[in-house]
Amino acid sequence: MDSIRDFAMVEQLYRLFLETFLALGVICAQCGQRRERHSWRARWVVWAPGRWDRLALLRVRCRSCHTVETCFPPWLVPYEPAATWLLVTLGHAVAIDGQSWAQLEREGDWPRHWLRRHVGRWLAQAARWRTLHGFLAIRPNLTMSWTSP
Ligand SMILES: [Zn+2]
Repeated sequence: MDSIRDFAMVEQLYRLFLETFLALGVICAQCGQRRERHSWRARWVVWAPGRWDRLALLRVRCRSCHTVETCFPPWLVPYEPAATWLLVTLGHAVAIDGQSWAQLEREGDWPRHWLRRHVGRWLAQAARWRTLHGFLAIRPNLTMSWTSP
């Protein structure tokens, strides 16, 4: 989180993601045809304490079935404005280091209601993943069947 100093670096990260992602070819989940560049959509992103900026995300369209998909980088989640590096850092502070919402509010530029809503939702998802991981750990054959082609 400390290494990202300005929004230009966030935009650069997205450009790097797109280069890699598009080079692989985007396949339509509906019909299996290749999707092509379609448009850009600006989206608000919280990438550092108190820093909101609009990031243009590429949208790709399938010529065959006309569906459109927004290309999200792995560090942005649909319907969540905070970059995952913030959610991970703040979630770690609460769930691992034992800090309270009030402490985080005092130390950063985070309104408590924002922390509860966004980081709380992230932690709830993490708990579900932990449960799933525990479930798979005691059923190795099931894991194998998921990882086999
Ligand atoms: Zn399609």
